[in-house]
Amino acid sequence: MADNGIKKVCVIGAGTMGAGIAAQVANAGVPVLLLDIVRDPENRNAVAAGAVERMLKTDPAPFMGKRAAKLVEVGNIEDDLAKVAECDWVVEAIIEKLDLKQDLYAKLEAVRRPGTAVSSNTSTIPLAQLTEGRSDAFKRDFLITHFFNPPRYMRLIEIVAGPHSDAATVAKVRDFTDRVLGKTPVDAEDSPGFIANRIGTFWIQAAVNAAFDMGVSVEMADAVAGKPMGVPKTGIFGLIDLIGLDLMPYLQKSLTSTLPASDPYQAIARSEPLIEKLIAEGYTGRKGKGGFYRINREGGGKVKEAINLATGEYAPEGRAPEISGPAGKGDLAALIATKGVVGEYAWAILGPTLSYAASIVPEATKTIVGVDDAMKLGYNWKAGPFEMIDKIGPAVLRAKLADNGLPVPPLLEAVGEGTFYRIEGGKRQFFGTDGQYHDVVRGEGVLLLADIKLASQPILKNGSAALWDVGDGVACLEFTGKMNALDNEVMKLIGEAIPLVAEKFKAMVIYNEGTHFSAGANLGLALFAVNIAAWGEIEKLVSGGQQAFKALKYAPFPVVAAPSGMALGGGCEAVLNSDSVQAHAETYIGLVETGVGLIPGWGGCGEMLERWQAMPGLPKGPMPAVAKVFEIVSTATVAKSAAEAKELGFLRPTDGITMNRDRLLADAKARALKLAEGYTPPAPPEFFLPGPSGKAALDLAVQGFRARGLATPYDEVVAGKLATVLTGGDTDPTQTVTEEQLLALELAEFMELVHEPRSMDRIEHMLATGKPLRN
Ligand code: NAD
Repeated sequence: MADNGIKKVCVIGAGTMGAGIAAQVANAGVPVLLLDIVRDPENRNAVAAGAVERMLKTDPAPFMGKRAAKLVEVGNIEDDLAKVAECDWVVEAIIEKLDLKQDLYAKLEAVRRPGTAVSSNTSTIPLAQLTEGRSDAFKRDFLITHFFNPPRYMRLIEIVAGPHSDAATVAKVRDFTDRVLGKTPVDAEDSPGFIANRIGTFWIQAAVNAAFDMGVSVEMADAVAGKPMGVPKTGIFGLIDLIGLDLMPYLQKSLTSTLPASDPYQAIARSEPLIEKLIAEGYTGRKGKGGFYRINREGGGKVKEAINLATGEYAPEGRAPEISGPAGKGDLAALIATKGVVGEYAWAILGPTLSYAASIVPEATKTIVGVDDAMKLGYNWKAGPFEMIDKIGPAVLRAKLADNGLPVPPLLEAVGEGTFYRIEGGKRQFFGTDGQYHDVVRGEGVLLLADIKLASQPILKNGSAALWDVGDGVACLEFTGKMNALDNEVMKLIGEAIPLVAEKFKAMVIYNEGTHFSAGANLGLALFAVNIAAWGEIEKLVSGGQQAFKALKYAPFPVVAAPSGMALGGGCEAVLNSDSVQAHAETYIGLVETGVGLIPGWGGCGEMLERWQAMPGLPKGPMPAVAKVFEIVSTATVAKSAAEAKELGFLRPTDGITMNRDRLLADAKARALKLAEGYTPPAPPEFFLPGPSGKAALDLAVQGFRARGLATPYDEVVAGKLATVLTGGDTDPTQTVTEEQLLALELAEFMELVHEPRSMDRIEHMLATGKPLRN
């Protein structure tokens, strides 16, 4: 990683954002000083310390592991401001009050080292006002870094530099937020609301207005403005409940008071008596008594209710009609062309919103890519506004806007019969404000399979996997099935890939750009095979998977797995069988087979034993490692970050972690190439296992759990099989167990469970509900 000179960070303001930003700095392994005001003279650091305490209990967790929390040093601005001199970057995240922020900067000016960057997390205050009265030197080192909530999980950060900001300082902070904090910086101009909140607020307002005006129910509104638009399923009203109804008037006021009178937002901003009443009565959304939706617990029940926008009465949530066909699956042209309320409501949102988004370039950000990135990363939209316009067709949108008397912004005129993005010479290009197309340029160290796919064909491909040439002698194995599930086709492709990679490449990475690396073995297929009693097929899938993964492990080239998102069950085993791992920090890895009445069957048992036997600090003897693996696997424990995966032994201490998702492939490639120098495959491990006496001890422990109601009768059966494998079956504890023997045992015990109806009940239940059955 390039050194950007930021070794210690100070965050001032330990509220929602400041605390979350400090946690993310700590997640990156960088020490951080978190300061807030003195509220209690007896306990002067109470505000910041309380924030850290709270974060340790928050779910989803702001910290990636307990170790990160230790990197946060707490203090207060009265006693500790001088410590700012030790810091290379100060992030101000105090309340949104100009005078308080200006006051703080004046104090900071006196204590900071020259060159220490200072940035504000302000959502609404122009940079020019923030730095009023400060010295030129301070202005040079000042910028706005606008994080999104929650800072660990939202990838967007908007970066705003002022006319006096020093380019090197901005570049330093930008680089740190990108490589170290894993955010995607998008450059914004110093204009009201920057990019994402400006479009987001407009979009919400347009959708709320239309729902009230057209008499659309909240359920219907969210059904239309959710999945069909490629927007999270909270849609509009669910989203307002999530962020808080009381934030609406605040955002509205901030934008109406700062945007020019001619801005289209001014014409649609309005307050709704029902919303004002809800806020006044404490119906501020999920954090309050409920909002547009609420859970009614009267009479001991738990009924989800939705509000009637016309009457303000709650009634049990109604089922919104299913939006079928292409219109329900992201085809926006089909959606707005749908007859009736669905199409009309969709258009009432998309028409004005897309027109508005097209009107704020270059005023809010220089390129359309900035707008699209901001909405995808800051609001979790699947496609950005310009990508949506391309889906509809710019010419179609223009005509429909004109027909409806809506403004057609110059950029939308300028693109003519073309589209905002195009593929030219294997490269993605965007339409610039100069009327020309330009390559979408990735930062140094960013490599995306999506880009490689535009310029090349796969070397191998079947229904569940593909093999790509990702350059410099590295091949990439991609899972492509639904949820990237693993099946015989994946194993077949691995078999074909190995000789090919051995001959033509130096190394292989296992990587894909799905939300999740892999949900594990294809359970639907497995269940089908059981239903037709195709035992041979199932055994072939398990032993075939064992062989394929071991063939990868002992191939004459290094294999580096690069997971991101969930890597569960078989997906976890693909990672475990690799020579080395470069994991995205947001990797959720675990062997969850017991949840469906099975045990790991693709070598996961032995790989976990191998890792735990090498774990520093464990007491001597075979039992401690066995007991640890048993505990982790029998309870289907999933690591909630790559850092936690190291603590749980899913990753080795030497495995790499990449904070920025877009940098994962390049980092994995670099790791693979490094390993390829003088590579020799690993020697197969040998295990010292405790045998039957060890199994008896584990069984006893499970009986104890069952007696206390912590394990079900069938948990005991499944855990028993796992215990047999992990203790080495009827092995003699003075003898070693080979990897081959352990794999055979794993297969045998797995097949016994496959014959158990209660395992099938668990699989069926999981497929139907997505939740484990506690039988
Ligand atoms: P918050 O109210 O949760 O926290 C603000 C914190 O600042 C409090 O702990 C308060 O004690 C502290 N504080 C107040 N005056 C201070 C001072 N003079 N010195 C030190 N600490 C002081 O607010 P928040 O939601 O975390 O917002 C903080 C900033 O981030 C604001 O500028 C806001 O506009 C911006 N922002 C908020 C969000 C969001 O979703 N909440 C998102 C992006 C940006």
